[in-house]
Amino acid sequence: MPASYTSELAQELAPDVLARFLRYVQIDTQSRRERTSSPSTPGQLDLGRLLVEELREAGLDDARLDENGYVVATLPGTSDGAGEGRAIGLIAHMDTSPDAPGHGVEPIVHLKYDGGVLSLPRAGTVLDPAAMPELAGKAGHDIVTSSGDTLLGADDKAGVAEIMAGVAHLAAHPELPRPTLRIGFTPDEEIGEGATLFDIPSFGARCAYTLDGSDLGELQDETFSALEVILTVHGVAVHPGWAVGKLVNALRLAAQIVAALPSDTLTPETTTGREGFIHPHEITGDAAQAQVRFILRDFDDDALERHRALLERTAKEVLASEPRARVEIDVREQYRNMRRFLTSMPEVTAAAEAAIRAEGIEPIRQPIRGGTDGSRLSEMGLPTPNIFTGGHEYHSVREWASLQEMAAAAAVVVRLAEVWSRDGDG
Ligand SMILES: [Zn+2]
Repeated sequence: MPASYTSELAQELAPDVLARFLRYVQIDTQSRRERTSSPSTPGQLDLGRLLVEELREAGLDDARLDENGYVVATLPGTSDGAGEGRAIGLIAHMDTSPDAPGHGVEPIVHLKYDGGVLSLPRAGTVLDPAAMPELAGKAGHDIVTSSGDTLLGADDKAGVAEIMAGVAHLAAHPELPRPTLRIGFTPDEEIGEGATLFDIPSFGARCAYTLDGSDLGELQDETFSALEVILTVHGVAVHPGWAVGKLVNALRLAAQIVAALPSDTLTPETTTGREGFIHPHEITGDAAQAQVRFILRDFDDDALERHRALLERTAKEVLASEPRARVEIDVREQYRNMRRFLTSMPEVTAAAEAAIRAEGIEPIRQPIRGGTDGSRLSEMGLPTPNIFTGGHEYHSVREWASLQEMAAAAAVVVRLAEVWSRDGDG
C-alpha cells in the first residue's frame, strides 16, 4: 500500500471516490442568494437526479428526490447491526458557493503531486505550497484542482462522493455489520438554507454527520452562534442648495455608527480562535435612508448578546445627537452553536472519534468559525457534528482536494457504520 493512503480500505475505495467526484463537480450546482424556490437553481436537481439513480444502482431502492430538492435514501441495517429505530444519518450538500465562478468546472487530477507549485492552465491561477501550508504536506498525493477559472466544488461534492462510495461499499458487503443508514443530500447550504426544509421526522435518524469539513482528521461539534443585524437610519432629505438647518443625512449617520464601533478588536480581521466579532459587510442608501448589514458571531451565546447590545447602544448614542433622525434595528437569528445540543449525547461525537481513529487518523478537534447544515439541524433536533472531507481553499478558484484524504473520509463512513453497530445501544 502506498504510504499516502491511510488504509487498505481507503485505497480500495479511492477509484470509486474519484470517479464519482469527477462526475459530480462537472454539474453546475451553484446556489443563488435571491431564492424564490427550493432549490435556488435547477442544476442542483440535475445532480440530485443523478445521485438518486446511483443510489438505486447501489441497491438503495427507496432513493428519491423530494419536492424541495433534497435527496433521501435508506441503507437498511444488518441483523447484527443496531437495527431499525436507531438509524444514523449521513449528510452532505449538493450546491456550490456563489462566491466564485461555478459553471463549466473542468477538474484536473495531478497524479503523484511533486510538492512544487501547481500552475493551472487558465486565468494564471497558481497553487503555491509556500502560501498554502496544507498543500505543502501533500507530496505524493493525487491532487484534484479546477482548470483555474472556476471553483472546484470539493465543497461539498467531496462529501457527497465520500458518502456515496462508503455507502455503496457497505451495500456490496452485507457481511460488514451496520446500523440502518439514512442518506441526505441537501440543496442551498451555501446560502444558509440547507436545513430549512430538511424533514427531520421523516429522516428518522437519532443523529447524523455532515461530511463538510476540510483537513484530514477534523471533527467539529462546535460552530459559531450567528445573528444578522440590519440597521436602517431614516434621515430628512432636502435639496442640498437649501439644506441649511433642514437636511439630516442618513448616510453620514450610518457611517458614523460604523466608525464608532471597535476596529482594533471584535472584527473578523483582528480575531482568531474563540473570539467573536461584529462585522459590517454592506452599506447602501442615500441621504434620506441608509442601511448597514452586520453579521455578529461568537461561540458563547452570552458574548453574542453583548455584541448585539454594544451595536444597539452605539447606534443609539450616535443618533442621540440628531433627534430628527430615527434608527430601526432588525435582529435575525441565523444559527446557534451546535455544542449545547450535542452535550446531552456525547456518544455521537465519540462514535465519530472512534471511526476516525479506526482509520488510523488522530482526530483534530477545533471549533468552526462559521456554521454548517449541522448547526441548524442540531438545533432543530437532529444532533449533527461535522467530519473532514479532504477539500481545501473553499469558495475560490484555488480550491483543491487530495484523493488520498477523500478516500480516508469514505473509509471513515464505513468505520462509522461499524462503530455504531457495536455501540449502537449506548
Ligand atoms: Zn460546505
